[in-house]
Amino acid sequence: MRARHHSSIARTLSAAALTILCALPVQAEEPGRALGNLFQNLLRQGPASPAAATVAPASGATNTGDLASLFNQSIEQIDEPKEIEMGKQLAAVLLGAKPLSPNMALQRYVNRLGRWIALQSARPDLPWTFGVLDDAGFNAFAAPGGYVFVTKGLVEALNDESELAGILAHEIQHVVGKHHLKAMRKSAQAGLLTSLIAARLSERTNGVLQGQLLMLGKDMYSKGLDQSDELEADRVGVALAARAGFDPYGLVAVLQGLRTAAPDNPMFSLQLSTHPPTQVRLDQLELAMGQRLDAYSGKPTLTIAQRLARGVGR
Ligand SMILES: [Zn+2]
Repeated sequence: MRARHHSSIARTLSAAALTILCALPVQAEEPGRALGNLFQNLLRQGPASPAAATVAPASGATNTGDLASLFNQSIEQIDEPKEIEMGKQLAAVLLGAKPLSPNMALQRYVNRLGRWIALQSARPDLPWTFGVLDDAGFNAFAAPGGYVFVTKGLVEALNDESELAGILAHEIQHVVGKHHLKAMRKSAQAGLLTSLIAARLSERTNGVLQGQLLMLGKDMYSKGLDQSDELEADRVGVALAARAGFDPYGLVAVLQGLRTAAPDNPMFSLQLSTHPPTQVRLDQLELAMGQRLDAYSGKPTLTIAQRLARGVGR
């Protein structure tokens, strides 16, 4: 079972250094600049989100509240509509930095695959939205409330569908576990927001609230998430992928490729700064998986090109 992956990994290694960052250096750009019709359509195609619909445009400070006091609460106290609204705004910024791939067949496929896996998660009812960014780099990341993005370069570098399933499941678990909210809350409590105190006088405008959120978001995407949350996403991710019917060793295969990523790849240093060392991730996964998931491994799996050629998502 693992032999299959070992051989496919060898191919990956020579092909490209694979990095899974869950973090993206965000350039300061006007949010939503590249938020074209494509993403608007993706959002509209998403499952109806009554929660999101109840978020009224803030006409007063109490509507979205100020972020400092929002993050003074426990994560559990942040309600789902707020979580989704924050995720939507962060997703718009991320999309401002990189546009979506115009390949609609690929977008549909990744959305179907991602939603199928998310349905197996502890939060199947979030308005899950998946997107492929038109970027040759290797990256995957998510935003609160159910937004998950992978780069085109990453999808193209993968050997098969189980590897993509593993990556999506890892990102899905970040959302399910509210790992982004936890990271932003930590920064907010560490005083990142105090520099914005002067701006609080005019906090009644949505723009300033957005500014605070974007500042925390940028900080989070450049620093990465909590290391223990990364390990949790790996652990729960393989179980999620297995539950969705995929070989749980897909993520393991991706990590094995990542472990030997060429140090001269510009992504390499970024990966080291935002994630636990890959060997630690592999060791922890090995420990968590043992042989319990072996019954699910070795399933026949399609390459992504084969799946797309069939014209059917899951
Ligand atoms: Zn991660």
